[in-house]
Amino acid sequence: MTISPDTRTHYVPEDLPTHLQHYIDGEFVDSVGGATFEVLDPVSNTTYATAAAGQREDIDAAVSAAREAFSNGPWPRMKPRERARVLNRIADAVEAQESRLAELETFDTGLPITQSRGQALRAAENFRFFADLIVAQFDDAMKVPGAQINYVNRKPIGVAGLITPWNTPFMLESWKLAPALATGNTVVLKPAEFTPLSASLWAKIFKDAGLPDGVFNLVNGLGEEAGDALVKHPDVPLISFTGETTTGQTIFRNAAESLKGLSMELGGKSPCVVFADADIDAAIDSALFGVFSLNGERCTAGSRILVERSVYAEFCEKYAARAKTIVVGDPHDPLTEVGALVHPEHFEKVASYVEIGKTEGTLLAGGGRPDHLPHGNYIAPTVFADVAPEARIFQEEIFGPVVAITPFDTDAEALELANNTKYGLAAYIWTNDLTRAHTFAQSVEAGMVWLNSHNVRDLRTPFGGVKASGLGHEGGYRSIDFYTDQQAVHITLGTVHTPKFGATDPTATA
Ligand code: NAD
Repeated sequence: MTISPDTRTHYVPEDLPTHLQHYIDGEFVDSVGGATFEVLDPVSNTTYATAAAGQREDIDAAVSAAREAFSNGPWPRMKPRERARVLNRIADAVEAQESRLAELETFDTGLPITQSRGQALRAAENFRFFADLIVAQFDDAMKVPGAQINYVNRKPIGVAGLITPWNTPFMLESWKLAPALATGNTVVLKPAEFTPLSASLWAKIFKDAGLPDGVFNLVNGLGEEAGDALVKHPDVPLISFTGETTTGQTIFRNAAESLKGLSMELGGKSPCVVFADADIDAAIDSALFGVFSLNGERCTAGSRILVERSVYAEFCEKYAARAKTIVVGDPHDPLTEVGALVHPEHFEKVASYVEIGKTEGTLLAGGGRPDHLPHGNYIAPTVFADVAPEARIFQEEIFGPVVAITPFDTDAEALELANNTKYGLAAYIWTNDLTRAHTFAQSVEAGMVWLNSHNVRDLRTPFGGVKASGLGHEGGYRSIDFYTDQQAVHITLGTVHTPKFGATDPTATA
């Protein structure tokens, strides 16, 4: 499938920057060597801006500023309440920019505007949540009667390297920025090169909120250059990464040299399991939203739907009918439900999976570019039924509006199918049988399970995957644990009883 640039006029936000710089030590700067890369919008596929392309020396400058702010600046030494005040001001500023942020995010990513609007509120909530958490935070103290008092001295770790993907970029950046900053670390953020626009808003938001210079640094650039240099930097003890599993594997190898702390949120191919006793209409609503919201560019998408055979035909028919009526179109149109995929490279990847799917399953809806949208990265919501578990569209993450439906006969078969991929991020289970729901949840290989629900998450709960979907969990106090050292301090009570090595005179006779 080919895409041609759209030469017609299309919606362009006012005052759109034409050049995006790094932000290092409180200043906007270009790359030391002047390197840049081009940034496209996904509707016209034309370049709307250049961005500074960070190289090793730019990462060095950012890490050095962050290191100085950590070693000698006020931020790590401020009381939690003082840091919390700054975080709350950041949250207020993010909320106040909701419509501008949504407009920029939609322009840069192709996400439908109605879905971009929620991102600012979720990003703001991350800052408020961690502001509350650090103020309420307390640590363990233990008494060993008559011998010792032990307590935990929790400390920020240093410069945290934050590497983020292009789906919901601003919101996913806030997931890492909020806990890393709340705990007193300083940071270098390397946002995704497909979507650098919204990250450029952070610098002013942070400065106006009173975050000291050098605490937040941003380096734009390609993963293999700026991202790689950040991962390999010896003065960066922590990397929090969200992105593809294969990138995570590369980062894991590269971080070994300096033994960094790693948090990895990786890819997914999550099952949505629908039993015959479920509320089928509610399951259909959820299974549609689960894979077609955010253009299907969603790590927790329920992109494999497993349906009990007695309701399989009914489910497929109703599901496909609804998929066909999903509104695909201009991301800035409030009626749009599926917008444009982020980049022509990604469009080509998703389109190639649609072609593979035509040889692996029965096409029930979609199947490629919608007729009414000859330009831009548009793919119609695509539904394949009767997909065998060894099919590539059952096994591989497509990260677009494409879903595979497969029937099952027994609970055991449903579980086997659900677990039959290398991934283990999320699982969605639809049944009105309480015992079955909980039994299935215990055995399914997924970091997060939703019973009779789409993806609704409370910020206190752990977020993360198992198997190839990730390492470690963030969310709530687990994020606090990732971004802090817990030093154990032991104090003697009374007289110290130490074995007296060397205190016996070896020449003395018995
Ligand atoms: P990606 O792995 O291509 O890129 C992610 C980030 O890593 C980008 O900033 C990129 O520049 C950087 N990068 C690339 N190569 C690098 C290297 N060698 N060293 C250091 N950094 C490098 O992922 P993507 O295409 O931007 O995002 C989509 C993927 O992200 C999907 O697989 C999706 O499932 C996953 N994702 C996971 C979660 C989660 O929480 N589990 C959330 C969102 C997205």
